[in-house]
Amino acid sequence: MWAGSGCSRGNRWSYSLRVNPLRSLILAAAGNDAIRKLVATTPISRDVVRRFVAGETTAEAITVTRTLVDSGLTVTLDYLGEDTTDAELAEQTVQAYLKLLDRLHAENLAERAEVSVKLSAVGQLLDETLALNNASRICAAAEQAGTTVTLDMEDHTTTDSTLRILDELRRTWPWTGAVLQSYLHRTLDDCARLAGSGSRVRLCKGAYAEPEQVAFADKHEIDVGYVRCANALLAGDGYPMFATHDPRLVEILSERAKWHDRKPGSFEFQMLYGIRPDEQLRLAGEGHTVRVYVPYGEQWYGYLMRRLAERPANMAFFLRALASRS
Ligand SMILES: Cc1cc2nc3c(=O)[nH]c(=O)nc-3n(C[C@H](O)[C@H](O)[C@H](O)COP(=O)(O)OP(=O)(O)OC[C@H]3O[C@@H](n4cnc5c(N)ncnc54)[C@H](O)[C@@H]3O)c2cc1C
Repeated sequence: MWAGSGCSRGNRWSYSLRVNPLRSLILAAAGNDAIRKLVATTPISRDVVRRFVAGETTAEAITVTRTLVDSGLTVTLDYLGEDTTDAELAEQTVQAYLKLLDRLHAENLAERAEVSVKLSAVGQLLDETLALNNASRICAAAEQAGTTVTLDMEDHTTTDSTLRILDELRRTWPWTGAVLQSYLHRTLDDCARLAGSGSRVRLCKGAYAEPEQVAFADKHEIDVGYVRCANALLAGDGYPMFATHDPRLVEILSERAKWHDRKPGSFEFQMLYGIRPDEQLRLAGEGHTVRVYVPYGEQWYGYLMRRLAERPANMAFFLRALASRS
């Protein structure tokens, strides 16, 4: 995030700092090595980590995927890591995805589970061509496995590059999904361009600290932007994927889908693993496709800290868990 471990390109989750003053404190803790070691080595952390992260290994990711799929949900899996400036680490990430896709196929999960890839984890910061080649290998493996790939969107300095790589990938794998962020001023135009037949677009609010020249800072403006973008996607012929936990937006999106005569299955809702699980099941029970974003891998620490920073209730859960074991 958006979802990975590093915070090297600025603080994320900027727009809601005002909403949750604890956030800056927790995000500061996320960068503190002593706290990282404490959290990583305290046995209780494991339970808390498990609420938001599937585990460190492919096998654990598959087990969680199986449970979610058996409960009627669909999944997109993220191998945690981002901002790689080392080609060997980028290669390790590609290998992790190839192994995962192989397992999804072998376990007959590929029909209901796809993968999400952050281009910065496969070399985008080093060289756009390297990232394109690495993403192409993941797309080819996904095709073989019988599933799809969505490219996560990172901070605004990468948007043009990510959309260029998307266009290239879509020449061979037209099902490659993109993510657009409603906080960026440019996004309504991007939605209009990507709303065509065959496209898959995940719409989210956006998770990075962005300058006001490029992004709305006000929560209301971000939400209004979200609804405008959703309308553009629903009016088009593509497959919109609405990533939000916001109950008000979920309600509005359900209404707007009806206005556009979109039946369940012609768009989907997406939420993060461990966040509003009851709502995920409720929407699935209504016949909607609900995809759960499942992160896994050894680099879970930064991701966990951001989930805790999002809501005071998550932090309280963490502290209660620590206290009950002390
Ligand atoms: C599947 C998925 C993929 C994503 N991919 C990307 C990406 O590629 N790039 C990117 O920049 N960002 C991504 N994001 C993050 C996204 O941009 C937002 O930062 C994040 O989802 C928070 O926004 P929100 O819409 O959930 O609403 P928020 O404004 O954070 O929350 C609105 C309301 O939702 C409810 N809510 C939120 N969190 C919780 C919780 N923990 N428990 C209960 N209720 C809660 C509360 O009622 C809250 O008031 C993704 C998010 C999801 C769900």
